[in-house]
Amino acid sequence: MAIVRVALPIPLPQVFDYVAADASPADVGRCVKVPFGRGERTGLIVALGDEAEVEQQRLKAVHHIQRAVPALPADWLELVGFVARYYHAPLGEVVALALPPGLRRADGVSDDEDPVLEIAPAGHAALAAARRASRSLALLQALAGGGGPWRRSVIRALEAGEAVGDLLRRGWLAVAAQAGDRHATGVLPTLTTEQAVAVEAVLGGGQGFNAWLLHGVTGSGKTEVYLRLAAHMLTQGRQVLMLVPEIALTPQLEQRVAGRFAAANVVSLHSALADGARSRGFVQALSGRADIVLGTRLAVFAPLPRLGLILVDEEHDASYKQQEGVRYSARDLAVWRARQRAVPVVLGSATPALETWHHARNGRYALQTLAQRAVAATLPSVRCIDTRRIKLDEGLSPALQAAIAQRLERGEQSLVFLNRRGYAPVLSCPSCGWVSRCPHCSANLVVHLADRRLRCHHCGCDGPIPHACPSCGNQDIQPFGRGTQRIEARLTELFPQARVLRVDRDAARTRSQWEKLLETIAAGEADILVGTQMMAKGHDFPKLTLVGVIGADASLHAADFRAPERLFQQLMQVGGRAGRGTLPGEVLIQTEYPMHPLYQHLARHDFDAFARMALQERRAAGFPPFTHQAMLRADAPALDDAVSFLRHARRLAETLAPAAVRIFDPVPMRMTRLARRERAQLLVEADQRAPLQAFLADWVAVLYRQRTARELRWQLDVDPLEV
Ligand code: ADP
Ligand code: ZN
Ligand code: ZN
Repeated sequence: MAIVRVALPIPLPQVFDYVAADASPADVGRCVKVPFGRGERTGLIVALGDEAEVEQQRLKAVHHIQRAVPALPADWLELVGFVARYYHAPLGEVVALALPPGLRRADGVSDDEDPVLEIAPAGHAALAAARRASRSLALLQALAGGGGPWRRSVIRALEAGEAVGDLLRRGWLAVAAQAGDRHATGVLPTLTTEQAVAVEAVLGGGQGFNAWLLHGVTGSGKTEVYLRLAAHMLTQGRQVLMLVPEIALTPQLEQRVAGRFAAANVVSLHSALADGARSRGFVQALSGRADIVLGTRLAVFAPLPRLGLILVDEEHDASYKQQEGVRYSARDLAVWRARQRAVPVVLGSATPALETWHHARNGRYALQTLAQRAVAATLPSVRCIDTRRIKLDEGLSPALQAAIAQRLERGEQSLVFLNRRGYAPVLSCPSCGWVSRCPHCSANLVVHLADRRLRCHHCGCDGPIPHACPSCGNQDIQPFGRGTQRIEARLTELFPQARVLRVDRDAARTRSQWEKLLETIAAGEADILVGTQMMAKGHDFPKLTLVGVIGADASLHAADFRAPERLFQQLMQVGGRAGRGTLPGEVLIQTEYPMHPLYQHLARHDFDAFARMALQERRAAGFPPFTHQAMLRADAPALDDAVSFLRHARRLAETLAPAAVRIFDPVPMRMTRLARRERAQLLVEADQRAPLQAFLADWVAVLYRQRTARELRWQLDVDPLEV
């Protein structure tokens, strides 16, 4: 009789002991089904128990140990253990988050992967005998033209690729006897000098842990650097983990990576995958069959026995931080994993997070810079349009309109960037002052004229647009302010001959809608784009030569100390969409503060100067990266309950905290009410990480033992992004 310790997805900071007749040390790292309460739960065996510690008769027996899948290795258990300790989350919840749901349920995992194919003897015979042209034959001929073997998904993406199934049925293609070599295929571009230097530096850094910041302006060819580094690792027989932000992981990028390494096993991991596919990818990573794991933040949990390199693209992107449940930062965990596994990690960005930049300045990370664009001769010119003394037409200045008209004449594309979707942010009554408030949140209902709804962007609450003021009956109620739909409508009036396309989360609700929009733009089937931050990320549109920014000033004065950093990143990214091809690009920013240093640095493409200024401000104000923070948040139907829990937590903290830890007063959150719950928060911070972490461990242990008001929930957020 062995005792197994099982991490279960239950909000309690402990593991649970069970007996298992035949368990051995080889079962550590395996999923199990166990009885729990009156039902059954699945969890992970994290250790074998000490038989002396508990009376065995009192323990229940496990129902089933999943042995069809290799056990998760020790380094993976260390990783989830670290996450549980660092973010002060129950181990079982970390495991539940890190494992694909299918695997966690300890179901079987099918192994229907994307096979590597080669031309079979029957295929060669068919080629030799070719009489009648057909789509299948055309595809076979294209394949016979060179290279191979190829992954099925790569063939499918070729012209006439849908015939791949037919080729398999005819026996013209067969699963390759052995995986093809992992060398990059196709004609590779000659690296620019800067790219070559960066690649040499990372590879020359030798084996072992090294953290690099690859600071490359937009269009400098960071992706090419990643691919070269990956190519090197693959030929060494190592695996590569490549993380990208949520929105950047598109089939185009998957194709670009898979196409470069046609015979390598490229696995995508993201939360939009169906259960089966996610489990399959995870198991391929775990068994060492995946060569490249390409994924969003959760891919940082992929087990990789042959790991040789970690790449984090757009490392500053906020989507790397999970904003609910276990609030981990995949970027930070990537660095931790690289150190743990003694491999290099490359963090790439045109606008690094100030935390990362600070590390590169003080030597913790090594810096490589790509200051030149790879193809386009120059960066776009950036200019402010002073809007203080001019009359705007629905938010659009005459100068911006003229610039758009010019692009239309030249057959080029323009993008009007406004980070606010909907028609107008609020509906109001000029006669009694009524405004469309969300009944469940401290927020306004946004006017969506396209489908005639009032909608809350926070809780999803949704209703028809009233015909008259609900408070005084006035029929003349007005949408106030501007969103993308309103700009789209006005541009359509101003430029009736142009094809205006809106790109925001309403227009791209699903991944496939988003794909379709990108294709439409790339194919040149749109002249004027109106987009939110969705348009800011890594896409290349050679005909896009103008970016007009409107409504950015609001972020200059936002209360959040990270707002300027985010604004600068966003504007630099979105401006970087202009002039990516051979045509020069122009960025026009409408502002009432044309002399603001943020815009001035932006106009000079001077990230360094912006970062220096922002870091000085942070140092003076005592903000990260010069302090380390954690936020305890509580929410309840009544604000009093949330605040009094935090007051109580504060008193407990005072008895536990060393002098190095500063404890602030509980305050209601800026957006206090969300989806009928009132929210408050309590900030704790310290100049050093160690005393803060030690204190948090003690504090959280005590907090778990407190009785709380009914319906009160609390969570701890370590290194919070929103303060
Ligand atoms: P970034 O990620 O730095 O914004 P990308 O990697 O997307 O830049 O590269 C921008 C464009 O330049 C892409 O179209 C890419 O194919 C091209 N490119 C990158 N490196 C080279 C090179 N060495 N020679 C020619 N074209 C390149
Ligand atoms: Zn009214
Ligand atoms: Zn709401």
